[in-house]
Amino acid sequence: MLVSVKEFGSERQKTFTETLELAAANDLFEGTEFKASSPFKVNAVMTRIDRTFRVLVSIRGDVQFECGRCLEQVSEPVDVDTEWVLMSRSDWVDRYEDGDEEVELNEEDLDISFYSGDDIDLSELIREAIMLELPTHPICQVDTAACDAAYQSNVGEKALKENEEAEVDLRWGPLKDIKLKN
Ligand SMILES: [Zn+2]
Repeated sequence: MLVSVKEFGSERQKTFTETLELAAANDLFEGTEFKASSPFKVNAVMTRIDRTFRVLVSIRGDVQFECGRCLEQVSEPVDVDTEWVLMSRSDWVDRYEDGDEEVELNEEDLDISFYSGDDIDLSELIREAIMLELPTHPICQVDTAACDAAYQSNVGEKALKENEEAEVDLRWGPLKDIKLKN
């Protein structure tokens, strides 16, 4: 999502919406174990004070992943609501890094992101916000009954099979003994 400061004109607040179609939404998840399973909708309300912006953003979409419990591919919604403060890099330098200020502010202490020139690219902030929302060990959250059932059949069957294989060994043991005795 690319926004130009010039689009604001004399307005103080503007709302931007964008739908990332499946392919573009999928790019957000590159290098992760997640995939987009629907287009992603982004809504950003930007309020400006001079060249500093407060952004209220909401992101909605669905992700597909393999449940760590039932081992099925499942799709679940992602809802992100967050807030950013964006400041022009040159304003920051003028105000805080030119040495006139008695207190030197460290930008890492503040939750501020920067933009250069007149263009504000929200793409990386959007990606980061989604990543923060994703679980490290994803398991079914929505349909837990289906997760239970799939767990029984997928993981349960695997355990059963292992038991059966173990039983074969147990059966062969006594048979071998009988043969030796006869
Ligand atoms: Zn599951």
